[in-house]
Amino acid sequence: MNCSICKSSAAIYLRRNEGVALCAGCLIGNLEDKVRRTISKYDMLKPNDKIAVAVSGGKDSLSLLNILSKLTARFPSCELVAVMVDEGIGGYRDGALSIAKGFCEVLGIPWIATSFKELYGSPLDEMIASQPEGNPCSYCGVLRRKALNHLAEILGANKLALAHNLDDVVQTFLINLIRGDPGRALRALSPVSPPRQGIAPRIKPFFRIPEKEIALYAYLNGIPIVSSACPYGKGAIRNDVRAALNILELRHPGAKYSILRSAQSLRSLAKCSSEAGEGICKICGGPSSGEVCKACALMGLIRRRDIAVGHLGAPRADPCPTQARSPPSADAGP
Ligand code: SF4
Ligand code: ZN
Ligand code: ZN
Repeated sequence: MNCSICKSSAAIYLRRNEGVALCAGCLIGNLEDKVRRTISKYDMLKPNDKIAVAVSGGKDSLSLLNILSKLTARFPSCELVAVMVDEGIGGYRDGALSIAKGFCEVLGIPWIATSFKELYGSPLDEMIASQPEGNPCSYCGVLRRKALNHLAEILGANKLALAHNLDDVVQTFLINLIRGDPGRALRALSPVSPPRQGIAPRIKPFFRIPEKEIALYAYLNGIPIVSSACPYGKGAIRNDVRAALNILELRHPGAKYSILRSAQSLRSLAKCSSEAGEGICKICGGPSSGEVCKACALMGLIRRRDIAVGHLGAPRADPCPTQARSPPSADAGP
């Protein structure tokens, strides 16, 4: 079968929901174009932006770095910096981060890294060992978000780019529904979070791109792909939701897009604010829907187990204007 766009090269991928077959070159071009249109539609980037790109070492974040590096090449006043967080998951994240650092060097993009140990006093493995009944992904997601905000803040970045793709966004929506939190489900749909209290707005240029197409994009561009899986991911609800969605997509092509569109319509109907809460955490000064933000609540649990806590977890008498502030969310990051 020939490519539906250029009509000359052999197709390597069938986008079933559109009935479009794509060759390697057209898939790369089409995906980059789609990202460019998403960035433009949601006004994600501006000249003179300093963009912190959250990089985990996985195919999504490295592909995002690759595309943003191409797109911003025409705007020399735009600056990209990769930001990385080592959660402290033995034998997993360290390998991915060393690949990520190597890829940054290939692209000529500076990077900065921190770790849970540095910021909170303990790696995730120790936190989970002291809190066996806790959900590792909740700790990981909440504290990772706070760490990324912290890195963006110390860099003076005015945007934080995340590689959340269509699958991630739809999974997160359903997970929050399953947990009985429709408000959070709708808020998490936003491709751009508004600026607040000094926190760099988060942008999601991949939020309409399926994970499968990003994997192909990474492969075709020779972007290194890490195959190891997080040991804490086995029992995570996200795996079950991912599997269910993939079956739906296989039997009903376009199901993921349809869920996203429906969810966005629901969001408009609900006139939902994209902000999680207007309050301020009384411990760290970050935004919070309650008295204490999710990250400080988790760190409080760990402190009660006598685990050493680093400077981001230390309680403060008054809000600190320079510390990282995390958006409250119980949902684990993909
Ligand atoms: Fe963190 Fe993902 Fe591992 Fe959960 S599966 S602990 S969110 S890296
Ligand atoms: Zn083609
Ligand atoms: Zn807090």
